[in-house]
Amino acid sequence: MKVAVFSSKAYDVEYLTAANTQGHTLVFHEAAANEQSALLAQGCDAVCCFVNDILDAATLKVLAKQGVRLVALRCAGFNQVDMTAARDLGITVARVPDYSPHAVAEHALGLMLMLNRHLHRAHYRVHENDFSLNGLLGFDMYQKTVAIIGTGKIGAVLANILLGMGCQVIAYDPVVNQALVERGVRYLARDEIWCQADIISLHCPLTPTTHHLINTDTLKAMKDGVMLINTGRGGLIDTRAVIAGLKSRKIGYLGLDVYEEEAKLFFEDYSNNLLQDDIFARLLTFPNVVITGHQAFFTREALTAIARVTLANISHFAQGELDRICCVN
Ligand code: NAD
Repeated sequence: MKVAVFSSKAYDVEYLTAANTQGHTLVFHEAAANEQSALLAQGCDAVCCFVNDILDAATLKVLAKQGVRLVALRCAGFNQVDMTAARDLGITVARVPDYSPHAVAEHALGLMLMLNRHLHRAHYRVHENDFSLNGLLGFDMYQKTVAIIGTGKIGAVLANILLGMGCQVIAYDPVVNQALVERGVRYLARDEIWCQADIISLHCPLTPTTHHLINTDTLKAMKDGVMLINTGRGGLIDTRAVIAGLKSRKIGYLGLDVYEEEAKLFFEDYSNNLLQDDIFARLLTFPNVVITGHQAFFTREALTAIARVTLANISHFAQGELDRICCVN
């Protein structure tokens, strides 16, 4: 099959090319997919897209017009796709449901430890010959209560890591994971969970129900000084409400790998430009905020699995083995 690969970086070219044992024609484009760039898929049977490609009805219409029948997402989340439009246009949408839950869970833990022990500040202090400890006081993770919102593949791995560290793990998920309950995770109703947690980590998908799950009201219910970690999707958090929460010290620590407006920023080098996003700029002013640019998935193991499953999805589609594709629709 001929596949237009959008938003491709050097590492995508490397890993997808290595996994392309079936000899598909991969045409790499640096541009993100949108209504205009969709024309680049001319003559292609499929497109391969990532988290910030815009696969709304308008883009999908252009793709369908050019004969594209498969959107092979090289990510787990599919909130960037208008699934109703895809269905109406007869476009199959495939994804990579579980390339490495460990990559994301370990990154979430990294953010927790970095914030708690102020590692981001300590690193620079030592480089300036400042070996004072003022302002670097942390807390033991042992016996702290950590809430995991969404105990799917990533949330479950994180829960197990935290149980191993001696944390009390509580969770909210409409689907209870019995294995976690047996290991000591306590599931609570969504409204009950906020007031009990010292740390809250978000691992549910972005849907209309979870959009702005963290907002002025839910923040009010949280403990003062709570640590909030988001490696899920930016839209899970109302960023303006969170900035107010940081200013009032309701939020004591904030670790983000995703951001509501990240499509305009992440994955590109803008170091020679002026930052135009005032909300993001405000977040950067807080010493108790750590932000990474959607890199939680970015491990060798995850890229290998993403490339392998993406190419397998494309091959199964080409061979009409629709039941073997990791399908969204
Ligand atoms: P998953 O499908 O295995 O798990 C999601 C869990 O969320 C499920 O158990 C589901 O029941 C639960 N859920 C659904 N609606 C919920 C709600 N309203 N409240 C609480 N829980 C709810 O997905 P996963 O592989 O664990 O990934 C979780 C999310 O992490 C993805 O949707 C994606 O947005 C994000 N993600 C981020 C990165 C990154 O690099 N930062 C990488 C991969 C995935």
